[in-house]
Amino acid sequence: SSRLSLDRILQSQGFGTRKYCRQLIADGEVMVSGEVVADYRASFDTANLNFSVFDEEWLYREHVYIALNKPANYECSRKPSHHPGVLSLLPEQFTWRDVQPVGRLDHDTTGLLLLSDDGAFIHAQSSPRRHVPKLYVATTHDPVTPELIAQLLSGVQLHDEPAPLAAVTCRMLDEHRLEIVLEQGKYHQVKRMLAAAGNHCSALRRTAIGGLELDTLELEEGEWCYLDQAQLELLT
Ligand code: URA
Repeated sequence: SSRLSLDRILQSQGFGTRKYCRQLIADGEVMVSGEVVADYRASFDTANLNFSVFDEEWLYREHVYIALNKPANYECSRKPSHHPGVLSLLPEQFTWRDVQPVGRLDHDTTGLLLLSDDGAFIHAQSSPRRHVPKLYVATTHDPVTPELIAQLLSGVQLHDEPAPLAAVTCRMLDEHRLEIVLEQGKYHQVKRMLAAAGNHCSALRRTAIGGLELDTLELEEGEWCYLDQAQLELLT
């Protein structure tokens, strides 16, 4: 752990520029352990540090690891063009901290999306050498058939891929829904695999990454939560 001055603490946690953070402190908007601290030079041990800004409680975090239940019509790109970006669903401190989505979901795909400001974590999670299984529920335009499942399991050729891509597991849920697990994360992969197999994906939801299941997080669409160490360890 380390000691930091209060202005540096606020800046590191995404409250704005150093100048703005000093102003917040001077204005009496910042409390530590229930007391207003008006001197920005006051220093604190950051380990388990609780503070409040505008009466909102925060815990100091060196990095943030976030799960979002992504609604449809939000973009994962850094410069969203046709829809609002997923960052707009999170407190603005996270944008200041440069929180980014870990990989991408299409604008119309819903479900589990991870976000973080830890570059090493993002890099490790996104590495193509790391085969983290991702579970999706796809709604299909045409009925799910045993042939469709068999094709997805044996592999389908996408036009810009050197080799066929196969699902790790795939099963029918009902006439128009299947559950599919992929270990890669190619562009539009589920939609393109379904199209290559002669069907069409009309809705897509990611329900798990590794052993982390969206249902266990109990998030409404558009809601987010911090992930703790035990949950992060499920992402392998
Ligand atoms: N596959 C897709 O086609 N879209 C996604 O958003 C994720 C996986």
